[in-house]
Amino acid sequence: MRVSREGIDEIKRRNDLCEVVLEHGIELKRRGRTYFGLCPFHQEKTSSFAVSRESGLFHCFGCGVGGDVIGFIVRYHQISFREALDRLAARAGIALETLVEPSSRITSREEMARRLHERAAVRFTRLAANGRRP
Ligand SMILES: [Zn+2]
Repeated sequence: MRVSREGIDEIKRRNDLCEVVLEHGIELKRRGRTYFGLCPFHQEKTSSFAVSRESGLFHCFGCGVGGDVIGFIVRYHQISFREALDRLAARAGIALETLVEPSSRITSREEMARRLHERAAVRFTRLAANGRRP
């Protein structure tokens, strides 16, 4: 089961990076269009951890880490991308199953239809060979 690109965008859209960062106990102070706080990924006394609410991206000028809200969760909790998606979907109240790649769903449905068709064709051939009407 793969989450679609749209699904990932939806998860990012519904999880405001600033809010998520605040929920992790990081105090943010606004400086212009950017929020600054103490970086959770390295020891520091001056705030070099920058969060842009507009772009939904963070960057630390101290240790150089950066990313989006999913990357933040991955790094902070040291979990996989998929686990971070699970967490953020749950946080936003989205059922992750609804965000699954539609192409993979279609493929399996087509595959199933093809197999059913093949099976019907085999049965038809067998019945015809026996001289009976299908
Ligand atoms: Zn840092």
